[in-house]
Amino acid sequence: MSDNETYLFELDDGLSEEDWNGPKRTICTRCQRPELVCLCSHLPPTPIHLDHTSVVIFQHPNEIKRPLGTVQLLSKCLDSSSLNVIRARQFPRKYYADLYSNPNAYLLFPNANAVLLDDIIEESNHYTIIALDGTWNEAMGIYHRHSELQELKTCYVKIDQKSEFVIRTQPTKETASTLETIAYALRCTERDKPTLFDDIIRPLKRMVELQLNLGAVEHDAKLSLIENGQTRRQYSKKHERWLMTLQH
Ligand SMILES: [Zn+2]
Repeated sequence: MSDNETYLFELDDGLSEEDWNGPKRTICTRCQRPELVCLCSHLPPTPIHLDHTSVVIFQHPNEIKRPLGTVQLLSKCLDSSSLNVIRARQFPRKYYADLYSNPNAYLLFPNANAVLLDDIIEESNHYTIIALDGTWNEAMGIYHRHSELQELKTCYVKIDQKSEFVIRTQPTKETASTLETIAYALRCTERDKPTLFDDIIRPLKRMVELQLNLGAVEHDAKLSLIENGQTRRQYSKKHERWLMTLQH
């Protein structure tokens, strides 16, 4: 069982079975969450249209089992012409030829060759930002199975705040949820929208606040836990070395 799955069971304890599964549970039609934890008052009034960016998310199928996945929230913040979420195990070149051949497409994946997104943005260009969504292991699995993805230019973003998503374990203090990473990227590409970053982060903060109120616990970054000897579950040496490369 992964950390994320553990965490979901923990969260379920915060609501009674009837709250989550009972016949009387009312689901909000806009945010598709139980009314008890509705986030609509913290979402942008209408989904935001991006002028300089298309966001494409390749999502691992397991994400659908995670009711607190942040991409679901992101899809309530951005309009459908700005964000395309594709849920599959395979993303072959034959289906996404335009994407893989687009010179302004960047995969948000902080490998050794990744460029800082802020350094390359030219305001006259339209950028396609591709992100992989799943647990870190799932995202790495998608990356390593696709030579097409490995041929894309890669970029990273400077994460200058602690992740708001404190109820899910992040690998390091410098990593964040998919929604937050995209928000940082859009802060680079959509410079004429000064409130955009906060507009996207606000519903995540609210979701975390509601879950903490329901008894969820804060998680420290996993590398910190390992360094402090607070967890027996270690990353493999290979995985740990890879995570260290994320700390640009
Ligand atoms: Zn709602």
